Amino acid sequence: MDKHIAVLAGDGIGPEVMEQALRVLSAIAEKFGHRFSTTTALVGGAAYDKYETHLPEETKSICRSSDAILFGSVGGPVGDMNNPKWKNCEANSILSLRKTFSFNVNYRPVKVIPELEYLCPLKKEVIERGVDILFLRELLGDCYFGEHRTFNAENGVRTATDLITYDEEQIASIAEVAFRAAQKRRGKVTSVDKANVLDASKLWRAVVREVALGYPDVTLEDMLVDNCAMQIVRDPSQFDVVVTGNMFGDILTDAAAVLPGSLGLLASASMNREGFGLYEPPGGSAQDIAGTGTANPVAQILCVALMLRHSFALETEACAIESAVETTLKEGYRTRDIARSGEDNQKIVDTRGMSERILEHLLAITVPSTAACS
Ligand code: NAD
Repeated sequence: MDKHIAVLAGDGIGPEVMEQALRVLSAIAEKFGHRFSTTTALVGGAAYDKYETHLPEETKSICRSSDAILFGSVGGPVGDMNNPKWKNCEANSILSLRKTFSFNVNYRPVKVIPELEYLCPLKKEVIERGVDILFLRELLGDCYFGEHRTFNAENGVRTATDLITYDEEQIASIAEVAFRAAQKRRGKVTSVDKANVLDASKLWRAVVREVALGYPDVTLEDMLVDNCAMQIVRDPSQFDVVVTGNMFGDILTDAAAVLPGSLGLLASASMNREGFGLYEPPGGSAQDIAGTGTANPVAQILCVALMLRHSFALETEACAIESAVETTLKEGYRTRDIARSGEDNQKIVDTRGMSERILEHLLAITVPSTAACS
């Protein structure tokens, strides 16, 4: 396979972890006989220094002529947000890319590795039932894109409204993605809505049920968002694929993000209807640790696995990366964010040390291996 990838490392720890992810990508190319060429492009504060904009035309054009985008993270120190270099940096970079490429589905896998259960805030017996969920969040609809209005009502009281809008094509599109994903996983879709109150949710539920008819091998369950929030904490093992709208997805995925225990372990993907995707860790630029060499590269490396799976249909290669990461973590290799004081078996490593070990495992895996893809 011959593919071209736009690499937007961004700010803070972005370039540090991206360097390690690209080493993993090269190892995959060599091991499996693919050609992956890359073009780096500036985004965020790094772009602002040169172009006085967070998302230059040149960067968009490089993305347009690529098969996928690998994105690091953007943003400045939390206390420096009024500096023009950092002001609205995230919105100008990521939200603009989402708009430019009409990314309509966000994938957010959330998994707890048993050896890292001490990082998970849930009880041991709950985690032991297994936490392995794929969240799919619709990205282009809901109240984020409807009309926003603040006005003085006739009685003089200040009033604000945000309009929730979904059409059936938007819902059917993400529902198809959810059912296809469930077919490759454990065969269950939980569709989350607020159909007891909202018309947009009633339409959501009806359309998801219609789409389900085309997937008799997948079980569909409808769940109200308030119940879902409780169930994620009470018993996350019940979920396989969770599909939901933009706002519910925003909130539920952030709640679920605490389950693995560090932002350094999570990857995400945003895809459009043509299958073009952007792959990024959901965490930010972690300016508090940038330059210290301690950032966890696992999230960015898992983004490479997601890209291989969802953009290039290279399931075996994606599984090989996930398996190498899991083995490394099971052996006790820990960056600072996932270390546990008093643990005998752990080996504290820096950013490069973690990826070195992952690379060793990757090269040792016998092909084909789907060890991590249960
Ligand atoms: P953050 O996500 O950057 O960091 C939160 C905490 O998680 C920090 O303690 C950080 O050290 C830790 N962390 C994050 N990724 C890590 C990794 N790979 N390894 C080890 N530890 C890791 O959030 P923040 O500090 O609130 O924001 C910093 C900047 O990032 C801000 O400018 C914010 O706007 C921006 N931001 C960008 C994105 C993005 O690019 N998608 C997302 C969120 C925040």
